[in-house]
This record gives sequence, C-alpha cells and structure tokens, in this order.
Amino acid sequence: MKFKSLSELMETYNTEDKCHQYFVSSRWSYGIRCPHCGNHEAEKKIDTFKNKLFKCGACRKQFTVRIGTFLGDTKISYRQWLAAIFLVTSHKKGLSSIQLAKDIGVTQKTAWFMLQRMFYITSGGNNNNKLSGTVEIDETYVGGKEVNKHKSKKTTEYNKIQGDKAIIIGMIERGGDLVMKKFNKLNKINVKPIIDQHISDTAIVNTDESTIYKGALSGRERRIVNHKAKQYVNGEDTTNRIEGSFAHFKRMVNGIHHWLSHRHIQKYTNMFCFRWNTKKLDEHSRIDLFLSNIADTRIMYKEVIA
Ligand SMILES: [Zn+2]
Repeated sequence: MKFKSLSELMETYNTEDKCHQYFVSSRWSYGIRCPHCGNHEAEKKIDTFKNKLFKCGACRKQFTVRIGTFLGDTKISYRQWLAAIFLVTSHKKGLSSIQLAKDIGVTQKTAWFMLQRMFYITSGGNNNNKLSGTVEIDETYVGGKEVNKHKSKKTTEYNKIQGDKAIIIGMIERGGDLVMKKFNKLNKINVKPIIDQHISDTAIVNTDESTIYKGALSGRERRIVNHKAKQYVNGEDTTNRIEGSFAHFKRMVNGIHHWLSHRHIQKYTNMFCFRWNTKKLDEHSRIDLFLSNIADTRIMYKEVIA
C-alpha cells in the first residue's frame, strides 16, 4: 500500500519488525548479501536470528541491516529512522534539528546527527543523467556572517563581494533536474570539470555576463543574459529558473538553519536538490528512491563533523 502522509506511514509500518523489513528490502532488493564476504543468500544460506541479526552460512559472521549504512550501530529505532526520513524528504523548506528532535522524540544532538547522516547520502537525486537541452547556470553566495545580506548582489569582482561566504554554482535543465556545487573560490579552471561532469556536450547554456564561464563551456553554445544592462529576459535566454531555485535555497537557509558553515553547505545543497528533483514524486516513491542509496554509506562521526 502506498502511504501519502506520516500517519499513514506509521500505520503501515506500525512495528519495529515491519520497519526493519522495509530497510532490508530497500538495501537488498535482490536478496540478502553478506557485507563481510559478499555471499548471497541464494548461494549459501543466511540465517535470521532474534534481535534482527543475520548470520552468514559462508563466513559464519553476524551482521545487521545497519552495518555499512547511514543507520549506523545506533540506539535509534527503525521506526524513528523511517519517520525522520519521511519528515526530512517531504518538508520542502527543510527541517531543523530542534523540530526533528521534537517530532520523533530524540535529543537535539541525536537529531542533528541523524540529519547530517541523511544529508550525506543524498547526492541531489541526479547521479547519472547529464543535464541537457537548455541549461541555465548561475552562481550565488551563501554562508558566512553576512548570510542575511547581499541577497541579490551580483558582480564579477568575486573577492570584494565574497567575503567569508562560499560560492554555489547552480545548474538547471529547463523542465529537468537541478545540481548545485559549492566552491570556496571560483575560477575558470575549477568550474570546467563540474560543467563537463554535469552538462551534456550538446546543451545550450544560458548564463549571465560573468567571465568565469568563458572558456569553461568547452564549445557548448552559450547565450548570455546581460544583468548589468537590466536585461533579465532576452527572448528565450533567461536565468530566471536557476535564480528562482537560489531564492528558495536561501529562504530555507535563513528560515530553518539560519547559518551554514562552509563545511556543511554541500550536504545541505544535496538535500535541497534531492527534494527539488523529486517534487513530482509521491511521498512513498521519494522515500523508496532515498532508500535505494542505503548501502555502503557508513559514516563515522569524525567524517560527519569534518
Ligand atoms: Zn559472509
């Protein structure tokens, strides 16, 4: 049964066993595989024990579905994780650790840790397909002490305006996905590999007049919207969509998180892009997609806070 709301989710998965089974089938959709030796249950039997322990018939070692995933070896129940995933992936404007702690009944410290782990596994929901057709690129400044200022200032004099902020490059396909990448400093050399990684060779790229993109587009057709001349819409050539997504992102940062340190910005943009790119999915499909990334995402605390 498809669930559409948190209460329906909690009714469908009303026991630890059912929630556990959801994580098991998400992680091992083609049958359980031992994380120690790689044995598949179809080859040598994998036994199931009490306390949700599995034991591999090949290497004789025990494991749980949490091993090697963002779920970690924590005391947080499967039901709390499932509720947290629902809340984080469905709230369009994001969710603070204070709110998550209240909603699922954990401490704020635990909720913060859960958020970091969940943000870590989302890569923006755009792993495989390059942006194609007409793509808009733009850059914006986030974080630092002046997070509430300079909302729409744009200049090619990066250093003057950047201050202690990070730069985010945003790329969006018309009618398609959004990708955001964080930079400490931006120049033609470091922006080029990101463009090559995420944008199809045949895409038509709309940018503002920034010189950063000159030479970084590797022969892709470029159409320039001249913001300095107040030419925000030049026929079909606009960067309105990417600017709209930046505005949403900044509202989330200012409204929910208030301040982002540089080291966490990429994770927040990943979760933001994941939500943006899955907004047409129903809640159930979005969680299925989120959980399809579950394997091999073990995170140590020192990595989370690094
Ligand atoms: Zn094994």
